[in-house]
Amino acid sequence: MVNLNRREFLNLVAGGAAAMISSSGCDTELVRSGDIAKRPNIIFIMADDHAAQAMSCYGSKINRTPNLDRLAKQGMLFENCFCTNSICAPSRAVILTGKYSHINGVINNKLTFDGTQQTFPKLLQKAGYQTAVIGKWHLRSEPTGFDHYDILIGSWGQGEYFDPLFSINGQERRTTGYVTDIITDKCLEWLKKQKSDKPFCLMYQHKAPHRAWEPDERHAKMYDGIDIPEPTTFNDDYETRSDAARQQEMTIEHHLTPSDLKVKPPEELPGEERRDWDKKGIHGEYWSPSVNLWGQPLKKWKYQQYIKDYLRCIASIDDNVGRLLDYLDQAGLTESTIVIYTSDQGFYLGEHGWFDKRFMYEESLRMPLLVRYPREIKAGSVNGDIVLNLDFAPTLLDFASVANSADMQGRSFRKLLQGSTPENWRTSMYYHYYEYPGWHAVKRHYGVRTNRYKLIHFYYDIDAWELYDLHKDPNELNNVYDNPAYKSVLRQLKDELNRLRRQYGDSDELTRAFLED
Ligand code: CA
Repeated sequence: MVNLNRREFLNLVAGGAAAMISSSGCDTELVRSGDIAKRPNIIFIMADDHAAQAMSCYGSKINRTPNLDRLAKQGMLFENCFCTNSICAPSRAVILTGKYSHINGVINNKLTFDGTQQTFPKLLQKAGYQTAVIGKWHLRSEPTGFDHYDILIGSWGQGEYFDPLFSINGQERRTTGYVTDIITDKCLEWLKKQKSDKPFCLMYQHKAPHRAWEPDERHAKMYDGIDIPEPTTFNDDYETRSDAARQQEMTIEHHLTPSDLKVKPPEELPGEERRDWDKKGIHGEYWSPSVNLWGQPLKKWKYQQYIKDYLRCIASIDDNVGRLLDYLDQAGLTESTIVIYTSDQGFYLGEHGWFDKRFMYEESLRMPLLVRYPREIKAGSVNGDIVLNLDFAPTLLDFASVANSADMQGRSFRKLLQGSTPENWRTSMYYHYYEYPGWHAVKRHYGVRTNRYKLIHFYYDIDAWELYDLHKDPNELNNVYDNPAYKSVLRQLKDELNRLRRQYGDSDELTRAFLED
C-alpha cells in the first residue's frame, strides 16, 4: 500500500466508512420540520465507572438506588447497552462523535480529543439548542459546541472528590464541598437560568464512582457492620482463558493500593519511603494492613473496603439525581425533557477477582442505560436489543429533529424507545481496546458479541482467541474456542467479525498506524 501518514490514512478510512454507512440504510435524513416546535430538552447524566450490577433496577444484590430506579420505572431500561472500547476518555469521545475510536482518534486515555471534529452538541447548538457540559470532561482539549462549560480540571482532568478545581469557560476556580453535590448544584443553577423559548441540552457528568472511591461524610458510615456479598466468580482461576486474563494488574487480591483501601501510612515514614508505601499494590506487591491477615481472609477484607466505598459514592449520585428529578417535576419540565442515565463503561465489582474495566467481558462491556421521556417512552419498559454508546449521538439528534452528520457510525434507537425494534436492527457488535502497555496491563484485543456468543482476539501482544457461549456460560468461565462442537459457530463469528471491521473501517493497517505513531 502507498505510504500515508496517520492523518491521511484516517481521512481515507473515515471517507470509506462514511460511504459504507450511507449505503447501509442508516437514517441520514432526520429533519422533520413539523417536529421542530416540539423539540425536547435533553439531560444526559453520566457517571464514571458505574456498573449496572450496582443499580437495584438492574437487580443489584449489593445496593439500592431508589432515584435511578425511579427513572427506570418511568422510562425504559436497556439490558444490552455496550461500549465499543471500555475505558473513560475513549467512551466519551465515541458518545460525542457517534464514531469508533479509530475514527475519532481517541483510542486510549493518553490522547487529546480533537475538538474541531463534528459532535452532537455542536449540531444541537447550531440547531438552536442551549448547550452545556458540567462536571467530568476528561478529554484534555477545551470543550467545543457548548454555550457554557464548567468542567473538572484537577488531577489531569480526573477531578478531585473534595474541594475540586473547575474550569468555568476557561476560568479556573476551586469550589468548596463534595464533588457530586457541587456538580448537581451547578447544573441546577444553569437550568434555572435557561430561557423557556429554546430547548436545552445539558451534559451532567459525575466524577463518582471513579477510583479512589472517596465517599462524602453523609454516607461515610453506610454499610458499617454489614458484609457485602461477594460475586460468584470472586475466585475465578482463569483456567480456560488466554494469558491476558492471568497477566492483568487489576486484582482485588494484589493491586488495590493502601490509599485505595483508605489505610493511612505510619506517621514516622520519611518522604521517599512514604511514596513507596503509597504505591504498594500497583504492580501486585504483597501488602497487608496487619501481620495476622493473609490469603483469602485478606482478599475478602480488601473487597469489603473497596466495595463499600464504591457503593457509598453511588449513594451520593443517587441522592443527587433525585434532587435533579425533583427540580424537573417542580419546574414542570418532566414531560418535555429526555433524561438519560448511563456510565462511560461498566466495572468489575469483584467479578473474576477484579476491579477496573477494559476487558471485553460482560461486566465492563455493559453500560447501564435508562431513558425517560414520557411523551414517547412507555413507563417501566425494558429492551433487550443491542445498543451502543456509538448510537447516543444519532438518537439524541433524531429526537431533536436534527440531521446527523453522514459519517456518524451509530444508529438512532428512537424506534426501540417507542417500543418497536426495526427488523434490520443489529444482532452483533464490534469492540476494540488498545491501551497496552498501560494501567492495569490489559492486553490489546478486539472482538464481536452477538446475542448469544462472544469471540475475542488478543492480538499484537499475544495472539490468542477466546470464545464464550453466553447462554450456557453467562459468567464467561469456559472458553470453548478449541471445542470442536463450536466449529461452525466459530467460522460464522469470524466472518461476522471481519464484516464488522470492514463496515466500520477498522483494519490491522490502521491499528499499526496508531500504535506506531
Ligand atoms: Ca470511566
